[in-house]
Amino acid sequence: MLTAIVGINWGDEGKGRMVDLLSEQYDVICRYQGGNNAGHTVVNERGKFILNLLPSGILRQETVNVMGVGMVIDVEHLFHEVQRLRDAGIEITPAHLKISDKATICMPYHKLLDVLEEERLADKKFGSTRRGIAPVYADKYYKKSIRMGDLLTPEILPEKLKDIVEWKNLTIERGYGHEPIKAEDMLDWLTQYGMAFKDYICDVTEYLNGAIAAGKNVMFEAQLGALRDIDYGIFPYTSSSSSIAGYAPIGAGIPGCKLDQSIGIIKAYSSCVGEGPFTCELFGEDGDKLREAGGEYGAATGRPRRVGGFDVLASRYGVETQGATSLALTKLDVLSYLDEIPVCVGYTYEGQPLDAFPTGLKLAKAQPVYETVPGWGCDISGCRSFDELPAAARDYVRRIEKAVGCPIRYVSVGAEREAYIKLF
Ligand code: GDP
Ligand code: MG
Repeated sequence: MLTAIVGINWGDEGKGRMVDLLSEQYDVICRYQGGNNAGHTVVNERGKFILNLLPSGILRQETVNVMGVGMVIDVEHLFHEVQRLRDAGIEITPAHLKISDKATICMPYHKLLDVLEEERLADKKFGSTRRGIAPVYADKYYKKSIRMGDLLTPEILPEKLKDIVEWKNLTIERGYGHEPIKAEDMLDWLTQYGMAFKDYICDVTEYLNGAIAAGKNVMFEAQLGALRDIDYGIFPYTSSSSSIAGYAPIGAGIPGCKLDQSIGIIKAYSSCVGEGPFTCELFGEDGDKLREAGGEYGAATGRPRRVGGFDVLASRYGVETQGATSLALTKLDVLSYLDEIPVCVGYTYEGQPLDAFPTGLKLAKAQPVYETVPGWGCDISGCRSFDELPAAARDYVRRIEKAVGCPIRYVSVGAEREAYIKLF
């Protein structure tokens, strides 16, 4: 069984939490895109963990975790992330962490270029997480990168680094007027942090094909929501990689395989980090209360997230883009404080209603159409069956299901592993 677990919205839907829960049924968990630009929060009996690069299955000793071909890996960040888990008593060995030899290394100069460009843009900045993600993907498509597999033949590194650094300094030094970077420093950095993963780097395709042939269940874990996909998202306020389910087998390392299911993680309201169009945004006291109730501050950066009501048009688009076969609705408990729940039921553009999620100027200028639905006014975090939910909460779930056209299979009512309801 090949399953993708993907975000339906702008990210931070609670993917990490659902992957942690569902991973019990899977033998192998793969990350297939992105780098440490997003964060998954997983709360379990061992504590609270923020994972930026490692697949969420890393917290279960019996699962094998794959960092796929499509990822960009800052090995210094990975080094510290692994160290933090080890300090918490979690064992990490090559038997249950496999890193693709084709994954791209996110180098210190990628981070530097990210910062230099954001500074140059000043008030026109994109709200980059400054983790070097756009520069490292750009270099990948430029075909001037160091890949994880290069660490296995370190004798090629000095020459390769010399060429790349010379090229990079054309931009860093002559373009941005910054002090040039040095090839020796890059080599030292790779030696210090990259070499630590020597024994973890392998041909993950070979491993995954073997696992599938042996009948193992494989899960693909997305790191960003549908609306951040480089092609299908709210370009240019997207990430630089493909976050959608269709890309999952490719980015993981088994391009010829087809998914059996795509489980979409959808949040009971909306949140968005950084700049860009966010039509359903709530401002003032309404926004502040929702942000507080949902604890909407970035897991990776601590930045306050923008918030809004559930967005029907954006979510329906997300469901279609992800080819979702079922949904997990998260953070329903967060809405318990509201007497009336605001729902963004559609958009208008120049006074006319829109039927589909727009792009470009239409999206930038779209206005939200809000309606309110009755709240339930009580704590639902202890509910463990659909029948236990108050009628208004059940109605809210059914309403969302109908609006986006995909069955809701799980409802999450708390951050803890057990705080969820299974509908079928
Ligand atoms: P991800 O990037 O999609 O994995 O999501 P994040 O980890 O960035 O953000 C989700 C946040 O909501 C985390 O702090 C989770 O612990 C928390 N969370 C997840 N599901 C629920 C839920 O059903 N209820 C509540 N109250 N919190 C949740
Ligand atoms: Mg997140």
